[in-house]
Amino acid sequence: MSNEKRKLIAGNWKMNGLLQEANDFMDAFGGNPAPDVVEVALMPPFTLLHSMSARLAEMGVALGAQNVYYEDKGAFTGSICPIMLRDAGCHYVILGHSERRSIIGESNAQIRSKMNAAWLHGLEPILCIGETLEQREKGVTNHVLAEQLAILKGAPKSAPLTVAYEPVWAIGTGVTASPEQVVETHAFVHAELQRLGHDCRVLYGGSVNPGNAEELMACPGVEGALVGGASLKAESFMEIVQAAA
Ligand code: PGA
Repeated sequence: MSNEKRKLIAGNWKMNGLLQEANDFMDAFGGNPAPDVVEVALMPPFTLLHSMSARLAEMGVALGAQNVYYEDKGAFTGSICPIMLRDAGCHYVILGHSERRSIIGESNAQIRSKMNAAWLHGLEPILCIGETLEQREKGVTNHVLAEQLAILKGAPKSAPLTVAYEPVWAIGTGVTASPEQVVETHAFVHAELQRLGHDCRVLYGGSVNPGNAEELMACPGVEGALVGGASLKAESFMEIVQAAA
């Protein structure tokens, strides 16, 4: 089955995870139970990438990072470049997460620079897009998403890419978008991507948990999930993977 057709369940650990917790997680998780149907990936913090890499590979779990800088090397104190992520065994890098857009103030232009750098070094970006509650209530969701996707203009069509639609109001809140909202918004995102020449997977993210994963993963146009809080416990992450399989 081609990679494009396989669902992706990706765990974004955010700023969580110490070495012992990572080892305990891997002991309990065991491995990807359905590698032909669903791809599994984990994005731990930078400090755990090297130590988790080999074991995750054995378990059939891909590795990713949560951010990257767009220069190759040099005097950029505190930054991590794409070559370092490849050296640690990463395939994926999350870009444009709403926490980085709102807390760090990352702009669409900076996100595009990071995407270019990621592509140059063989990483697959997971580009996060999403509207705030205020924007949804004002009825400008599609406009906001189109603006965030517009950074793909002029990008090579063959470049590996996954998009994650994550309504900001659903991230870490316990509130998920309704299946109707998910279906409608994913249809818009797919159409917009097609217009831009990118026929890639679109994940849903925002309070995905074992209780709602099956319903969300069954929505047309949803090709996996970006999971935050519920990816920290091996048991709940496994249940979400099984719901997608
Ligand atoms: P959440 O986070 O599952 O904890 O809501 C999702 C994300 O931010 O990617």
